[in-house]
Parts: sequence; structure tokens; C-alpha cells
Amino acid sequence: MRIPALFSAALVLLIPMQTAQAQSGKITLVIHGGAGTILKANMTPEVEAAYRETLTNALRTGFAILEKNGSSLDAVEATIRVMEDSPLFNAGKGAVFTHDGRNELDASIMDGSTKMAGAVGSVSIIRNPISAARAVMEKSPHVMMVGRGAELFATSQGLEVVDPSYFWTERRWKALQDILVRERKEGSAWNISKSEDESRFGTVGAVALDSKGNLAAATSTGGMTNKRFGRVGDSPIIGAGTWADNDSCAVSATGDGEYFIRLSVARDIAALVEYKGMSVQKAAEEVIGRKLTELGGEGGVIVLDSKGNVAMVFNSEGMYRGSVSAGMEPQIEIYK
Ligand code: ASP
Repeated sequence: MRIPALFSAALVLLIPMQTAQAQSGKITLVIHGGAGTILKANMTPEVEAAYRETLTNALRTGFAILEKNGSSLDAVEATIRVMEDSPLFNAGKGAVFTHDGRNELDASIMDGSTKMAGAVGSVSIIRNPISAARAVMEKSPHVMMVGRGAELFATSQGLEVVDPSYFWTERRWKALQDILVRERKEGSAWNISKSEDESRFGTVGAVALDSKGNLAAATSTGGMTNKRFGRVGDSPIIGAGTWADNDSCAVSATGDGEYFIRLSVARDIAALVEYKGMSVQKAAEEVIGRKLTELGGEGGVIVLDSKGNVAMVFNSEGMYRGSVSAGMEPQIEIYK
């Protein structure tokens, strides 16, 4: 078969670049801070600068660990803790409120070298749920603990406990009040649109590749404003919101949790990489760009493979995201 001249020239240009990137396997850290309707028109320069600063800090914190030959697991945990400690994100300090005016936090972590995983759901007094998830993975025979039991376990492991009021922030409280007013006007709670941004915006996630070639992934969230009845989303579900496996890739997701659970988004992307040999970009586009979109869900993922190939794919207006790798300054992006 003859290949048109222009096309073959493009191939010559493309192939060496891809190979060079694919062979390097350099230490890399990728993060997200939630996906949704993030429009430049709605953003003040001050708010945007604050997001960029915290995302950059998070990247620098995790990358410093990778640079010292630390593990990808340590890097993702430390990175998430920076974002959990910031009021900007819907995780840790800035978590959204439940219908009853509480904060119920979810988190999960996975080690790509061992396929060990840990998760907590609905915790209200653990300052850094991601560290509780890691404790479940490393200090217990279980993968997931929820509610009071998870809190007792985290406390027994010496993790920092806070008064529930620690998680109170004005912005998230107001978001709940706005929804409650609408709910009273419109009737049923279930009518509230799933993609209402202030209702779930700002979940955080990280994926990393360390100098030994090991991958890890972590995700932390407050879930959705006005959630009830112990609702838990995809973020603490291994295979939905989080996945890491050296044989395929590391994934952290953000978006309409119910859809991500129904599609097993994180594991589905990894399966396409593992069984079909797809690139992380193609696999993420297939699952987010096609399957999630066709089902009517909104959100995005960050994906990283053990060669250092990165994908950041979302079907929403924007996604807070950033990456850093050896020899590169941290890069932050927000809009499409
Ligand atoms: N996925 C999270 C949840 O459904 C929310 C988000 O990522 O914005 O709990």
C-alpha cells in the first residue's frame, strides 16, 4: 500500500517522539483538583491565582519526594494532603456539606507495584482521609472501612483527629443553603441536577511514577453537596475513582460519582491499556469521551503509565489539573 507523501512525513516526525517519550519512564506526578463548569468568565484573577498556587505547591511537595527516590505512594499521599488542607478543594478542609449539614469524607489509594489498596468512606473527624485510606491498606487486612469504624481505626493508628467544625467553610455552607432553598421551592431533592457545580466541585486526585518504575494513585473528596442517606460516590471505590497497576496505568477520577461507579471508569481505562494495548490517551478518550458522555455523565480523569505517558481527559468545561516530570517545571491548566 502506498502512503501519501505528506502522511508518511508526519509519521516520521511522530514516531521518534513517541518512542523517545515511551522509553524514558521518568519520574512524573500528575494531579487534578476537580472537573466541572469552570469558565474563565466566572473566575476572578485572585481566585485563579489561589488555585494555581495551591496546585503548584501540591505538585512541588509530591515531586520533591520522587526526586529523592521516594515512592510513588509517598508522593501521592503527600500531594493529596496539601490539597486536603486547603479550603479551595472539595476534600479535607474544604469538603462540601451533606443535607444534614455535616461533612462526610471519602478517600482511596492504590499501590501499583503490589495492587494493594485502601479506602475510607463517610469519615467526619479525620483531618486527612487519604492517610486513613493508606492506613487501611497497610495496617489492616481490609480494603475499605466506613463511618465510625473507619474513624476508630484511623484514631488507633495515630492519625490526626479534628472536631467536625474544622471542616466548616462559608463557601460550602452557602452552597448547601442555596440548594436547600431550591429544594423547598422545586419539591423533590432528587430533581437537583447531578452536575450542579457547587454541589460537588473540587475533588482531588494524584497519580505518580517513581524512580523504580512503580505507579500509585490516590483520590479524596467530600462527595456532593446535599448528599443523604450515607451516599458514597466513586472516589473511595477501587476501580471506579482510583486504580493503579504497574502492568497498565494509574488513574484518578473526578465527576458525577454514580456514573463513574456504573462504568468502573478507572478500571475500564486500565483494562483497555492492559488487554488492548491502547495508549493512556486513547483509553481515557474511549471511556470519558465516549462511554461516560453517552451515558450522560460529566467529569474527567488523569492517567499515567509506567513509561511516563500522561493523559488528562475530561468532557466538562474545565478541570483543575497539573503535571511535573524530571527536567520540567510544574504545569497547571484549568480550562479546556
Ligand atoms: N466524584 C465525586 C463524587 O461523586 C465528586 C467529584 O469528583 O466532583 O463523590
